[in-house]
Parts: sequence; structure tokens; C-alpha cells
Amino acid sequence: MVRQITTKLADWYRRSNQQLPWRGIRDPYAIWLSEVMLQQTRVSTVIGYWNRFIDKYPDAQSLAAAGLDEVLELWAGLGYYSRCRNLHQAAKMIVTDHDGQFPRDPEQVRKLPGIGEYTTAAICSIAFGEPLAVIDGNVQRVLCRYLGIDGDPRRGDAKHSVHEAADAALDCDHPGDHNQAMMDLGRSICTPRSPACQICPLGNGCVARASGEPTRWPQPRPKRATEEQWWAAAVVMQGQQVLTWEGDGELLAGHRGPPLARLAGPGIHAEKMADRELRRFGIEGATLLGHGDRFRHAITHRRLQIYPLVYQFTGEIPEAATTIPIEEGGRLPALHRKSLAAARKLLLEEPR
Ligand code: SF4
Repeated sequence: MVRQITTKLADWYRRSNQQLPWRGIRDPYAIWLSEVMLQQTRVSTVIGYWNRFIDKYPDAQSLAAAGLDEVLELWAGLGYYSRCRNLHQAAKMIVTDHDGQFPRDPEQVRKLPGIGEYTTAAICSIAFGEPLAVIDGNVQRVLCRYLGIDGDPRRGDAKHSVHEAADAALDCDHPGDHNQAMMDLGRSICTPRSPACQICPLGNGCVARASGEPTRWPQPRPKRATEEQWWAAAVVMQGQQVLTWEGDGELLAGHRGPPLARLAGPGIHAEKMADRELRRFGIEGATLLGHGDRFRHAITHRRLQIYPLVYQFTGEIPEAATTIPIEEGGRLPALHRKSLAAARKLLLEEPR
């Protein structure tokens, strides 16, 4: 039953021939870039970004030689900025540890920052013909439905069954085409909410289709309870520049932006907590200009309420801080962008 997937998909892939700029390319750098951008992002959004990146940074050397800020600017709007930071860091490792050549050995590929099992399999199968099955959310969905695999495919027995099926279905003569076909099918036909079973190449023999309720698979993981949290964002200005630090707490760690201080409840001791956080980052004696409009923000299971506090600071800027013009916060994560927007609004309303 599993082997039928191989031939049906190969026929469909040859006929469907999706027009994507990275399709048919064997350059591991270009494939890597497309795979990283496609994580959590629609194909239609990625196309423009991928073209601009390849134009500006056609190989690992040019990407490694660029400054991180410049690379982040080109990435702005694509979201999940840690992907971009890892990409840049990995490009540097390719230059220093692999003489600028993308490694062929899957073990070496897996060691690059931001590259896990899935991306390793995608790059190595497409660029080098390695017989490695890609298993992403699309592939999990297709296999769970076609074979009627019960349970959460991300763990336990169901995960094991999906991996076994993916390996058994892999076309070892054309692993890259096979993997791309599986992912394309999940993205374009066997979609999460409205699978187009009547035009699906796997329609005959699919357990989920025969059941009449294809969306019963894959079975969702138990929902994590949402948690309400309250945070103060300390936006420190020096003239028209905002001071930013790399976050090291439980929220947005590794991302630059204004310091964030967790509150015990809605607005509770916001000034005191923000002041304490600022001291930790080396800022003492900043003048509080006012409170920006409170806003909401959601990150995975957390529903946040953010209380932006805006300060003016005339002292020496700590070494770990960098400054950006307040109107240039576009490359920061969404939560920080919102804090800066609230600060700007306050400053425009109350010019000092
Ligand atoms: S027949 Fe329907 S449920 Fe089965 S794999 Fe195709 S689209 Fe998915």
C-alpha cells in the first residue's frame, strides 16, 4: 500500500510541474534558502523574498560577508527572525569550516545553525540525491490520511508509523523529486481544512477519503491552555534614537528590542518593574516621559498585555545597547514594533 504512493506521486509530479523559482535547481545554497524561508510562510510570500535574496547574496560567501543588520533588513516582513540570524551564522560557518562549499555530508549539514532533520533531508535529497525522506507537517498529514494513522503524528507510536511509512514510500532513485512531490501535495491538494480528494493522485486507496471525513486525520495534539500575561516594555529614547538590547528573559530571548519586565497582574507596579529591568541593563536616572497605549499581543499559547513606558535618557549608552531611529523599528519582532509605535504616538501627542 505504501509503495503505491511512490509511483502515483512520481506521475503526478511530472504532470503538475509547479513553477517555482527554486524548482529544478541543484545548488544546495539556493535550496537551503528556499527551505528556511518556507518554514511557517506561504509559497506566494516567499517567492519575492527568495528572488531578492538570491540577487543580493547569490552564495554563502556573499551572505557571510554582509552585516547582520543589512541581512535582517532584506528579511523584514518575513517574520520569525531567528531563521535569518541562523542563516547568516550558518553562512559564516560554511565559509570558515567548509571553505565556502556547502557540506554534502548530512551529519555536517545538521550541525549548521537552524538546520534540523527536516531541512537536512530536504537539502541533501534535492541537491545531492541522498535517500532521506522529508517529514514536515504536510508529509505527516498526507501519510496519516492515506494510511489512516491514528494519534498525534509528532509523538509516540503515530510518529514512529509516519517515519516508517515515509521511509518505505521514498523513491530512492529520485529522492529530491519525491520529497518535493509529497510536500507539494500536502500544500496544494491535501490541505489541512479542505482536501481536494476528487483530484488527488492518492485518492484510490486513501483511508481518510474512504471514511468520508478526511479531515479527521491527523489527530490534533491536546491543546495547551492559554496563559494571560502582563508585561511592561521600557522604551528608552536618547533624542530620536531608541536604545535596544538583546533580550535574555523568557520573552523574545535573543531578539533586540526594548527591555521587557513581567508584571504580576494588569499594570501592577509597571514603573517599578520597568525601572528594575532598566537598571539590570545599565540604565539609571532615565526620565519617564509617560505611558503609551496599552496593547495586546499573542505568542503561541500566551496572550500578552503590554504596557509601554517611554523614557528619555541623557547618560552614557551602555556597551551592550545599540540605537536605532524610532521610525526604523521595522526589522524588530512584531511585539517590539508595536511598543515603538505606541512610544511614537505618545511623543507626537506630547512633544517635549
Ligand atoms: S485522497 Fe484526500 S485525504 Fe487522501 S491524500 Fe488525497 S487529498 Fe488527502
